[in-house]
This record gives sequence, C-alpha cells and structure tokens, in this order.
Amino acid sequence: QVNLNQKIDYVFKIVLVGDSAVGKSQLLARFARNEFNIDSKATIGVEFQTKTLIVDHKIVKAQIWDTAGQERYRAVTSAYYRGAVGAMLVYDLSKRQSFDHVAKWLEELREHADNNIVIMLIGNKSDLGSLRAVPVEDAKEFAQKENLFFMETSALDATNVESAFLSILTEIYRIVG
Ligand code: GDP
Ligand code: MG
Repeated sequence: QVNLNQKIDYVFKIVLVGDSAVGKSQLLARFARNEFNIDSKATIGVEFQTKTLIVDHKIVKAQIWDTAGQERYRAVTSAYYRGAVGAMLVYDLSKRQSFDHVAKWLEELREHADNNIVIMLIGNKSDLGSLRAVPVEDAKEFAQKENLFFMETSALDATNVESAFLSILTEIYRIVG
C-alpha cells in the first residue's frame, strides 16, 4: 500500500464478473486485504474496494467492484459496468459449467461495457488441481481467440492474485495512461 499523502495519478475502475461461487469476492479480499474466508457469504452493501499501488512509476488507485450476488440471477445492471476500464472474467477451473458460461459473460461485457475495456480471463482455484475440469490449453485457446489476457489464480493460497491485478492494471495504463 502506498503512502496516502502521495498524489494519485490515476483511478481505474475494474469490475469482477463470472458465475456465482467462482471466487470473485475472495480474489478481491485477497488482493485488497490479503484475507481469505472459507465460508464467504455474499457481501451486501459493499460496492467496491480500493487499493493504491505503483504501476509503471505512477500511483494508481484500483477501484474494484464486486457483485453482491446479483450474478446468480443474471441481474448485473449496466451501472455496474459504467466507467469500467478493466474486467476480470472469473471461472472456477474445477467447475466446467463456470467456464462454459464465460462466453455469456463476455457478451454481457461487450454489450454494457466500454469498447476498449481490458478483459482478463481468470481460472480461479488453481489449488484444486486434482479436481481440475478445465484444461489450461482450453482456456488459453479461448482467451487467444477472444483477445483476452489469461491467468490461473488461487485466492486460497494467493497464487498469482497480485500478479493478475498488476497485469490488468499495467495493460489499462498502457491504453489510458
Ligand atoms: P463469488 O460468488 O464468485 O464471489 O465466490 P466467493 O468468493 O464467495 O467464493 C465461493 C466459494 O469458493 C467460497 O466457499 C470460497 O471459500 C471458495 N473459494 C474462493 N476462492 C477459492 C480458491 O482459490 N480456492 C478454493 N479452494 N476455494 C475458493
Ligand atoms: Mg461474491
């Protein structure tokens, strides 16, 4: 975390999307507070969390928006996407269905979000390797075809979480900065 007295150069809004229970809220908890909750419940009322960090020598405040469970009913509103310059599209690599739904979320993003939004596909729960249902090659191929960045993460053991957020922020900075 950066000294708060320093001047913030950029505020970047990033939205988390993807099926319910893929680990969106835990990825955010890990990134913003270095926390993980085994029995996470849908957080109600909290719209976003922020974390200030250095990206390419600039002070960037990442404002990361999490759903409050509306994704379960496909009821994420356009207000959620408004002003977003980045999106983390998350699936659970131990749940094939959550990967099969990625195309739907992409459609939703392309309909509601800004045209040059940076999208990163995230295969979360890499700690559940023995239960893997989505081969990494499938995800890579899909990401390549759709022009998405891609990374596998674990909110539980923290693998690649910081790195995923840093990558998307760096890509956003390249476009916006
Ligand atoms: P959301 O509905 O997408 O926000 O998902 P949550 O963050 O609430 O997580 C759903 C469930 O998956 C919870 O029981 C979490 O503890 C669990 N979970 C989240 N991330 C991981 C992870 O990286 N590994 C494992 N094994 N479980 C996770
Ligand atoms: Mg959640």
